[in-house]
Amino acid sequence: MLAYTYKEHGKFMLEEKEKPVLQEEEDAIVRVTLASICSSDIHIKHGAVPRAVPGITVGHEMVGIVEEVGSKVTKVKPGDRVAVNVETFCGNCFFCQNGYVNNCTDKNGGWALGCRIDGGQAEYVRVPYANQGLNRIGDAITDEEALFVGDVLATGYWATKISEIGSEDTVVIIGGGPTGICTLLCVMLKNPEKIILCEVDHERITFVKEHYPNVLVVNPKETDVEEFVRQHSRHGGADRVLEVAGGRNTFELAWKVARPNAIVTVVALYEEEQILPLPQMYGKNLTFKTGGVDGCDCDEILRLIEQKKIDTTPLLTHTFPLREIEQAYDIFENRKEGVIKVAIRP
Ligand SMILES: [Zn+2]
Ligand SMILES: [Zn+2]
Repeated sequence: MLAYTYKEHGKFMLEEKEKPVLQEEEDAIVRVTLASICSSDIHIKHGAVPRAVPGITVGHEMVGIVEEVGSKVTKVKPGDRVAVNVETFCGNCFFCQNGYVNNCTDKNGGWALGCRIDGGQAEYVRVPYANQGLNRIGDAITDEEALFVGDVLATGYWATKISEIGSEDTVVIIGGGPTGICTLLCVMLKNPEKIILCEVDHERITFVKEHYPNVLVVNPKETDVEEFVRQHSRHGGADRVLEVAGGRNTFELAWKVARPNAIVTVVALYEEEQILPLPQMYGKNLTFKTGGVDGCDCDEILRLIEQKKIDTTPLLTHTFPLREIEQAYDIFENRKEGVIKVAIRP
C-alpha cells in the first residue's frame, strides 16, 4: 500500500509499504477513506517533535472503515465507519480512569499514531486499543463532517470544556487557524456574552468574519488588543482566554488581556520556551490550564455534528488524492490559495 513516510529531518516521502496487520487483541485495522494534514505533521518534518520516529507513516487525523478487529475489540466491527482518535489510551490506568487520557501510562499512550507508530496518511492504519481509539460515525454524518473529530475538533472541545465558560463571559481566543476555529465553534456552543478572536493573517480574518459574523475579530498588528478587550468586557478584561496560536508573543498577550481571577487555557504548542513573569502578574490571581488534548469526548462531538450544532466542513478548503500528497503539503505548509485544511483521499 502507499504510505507517506517520515524519512529524516526535513524529508517526507510517499512509498510502498506492507499493509498493516493485527498485532494485539485490542487492535483494529482501518481502511482510510479520508485523512488530513495537521500542523503537527509539519512540526515533525521540521524536527520540532523529537520523539517522532523516522520511518513511520505520518498522519493522525483520519476517518475510515473498519476492515479487521482483534479478539478483544467490542466497540466496533468490520464494516463500521469510524473516526480515529489522535491519542492512544488503554482505558484502565489511573489517568485514563480519570479522563486524563493524554497521560495514559501505556508505552504508546498519548500521541503515538503518525509520530511513534505508523499513522494514517496511507491506505490502511493499525489502531491500538481500538475500543478507545475508534468512534463509530453515524450514517447521517459524512466523512468530511467527521474528519476533524479525533484531533483538532477534540482539542477545541476539550479546551472549551476545561475553560468553564459562563453566559456573561467575554472569551478571547488567540489564533484563527484550524484549531482556533474548531475552538471557536465549541466556545460558541456555550453562548458567552462576547467572543473575541485574535488573528494576524488577513485571509483567516476574512474567513472568520464571513462565516461567524457575531464574533469580534481583532488584529494585534493593527489594534491595541488589551484596550479592545477592556472595552468589550464587563470587568476590565477577558473572563476566559484560550491561547491556541503558539506564536512568539501570544502567551504574553493571553495573560495580559485576562482580567484578575480569569482562567487562561493554553492549548498552543510552542517551539520556544515561554516566560511566566510572576512579579508582573502578582495579585492578578490567574488560573492557568495547560496541555495536550484529553480526547475522550469524541462520541459526544459526533452527536453534536449529527445534530448540526458543529460544522467544520467550511474549514476543508482543499482535497487531494494520496498520490498527490506532496502538492497537498506544499499548499498547506506554505499557506497557498487561502488554505485552511487539506484532506487526502487514499
Ligand atoms: Zn494534529
Ligand atoms: Zn491508560
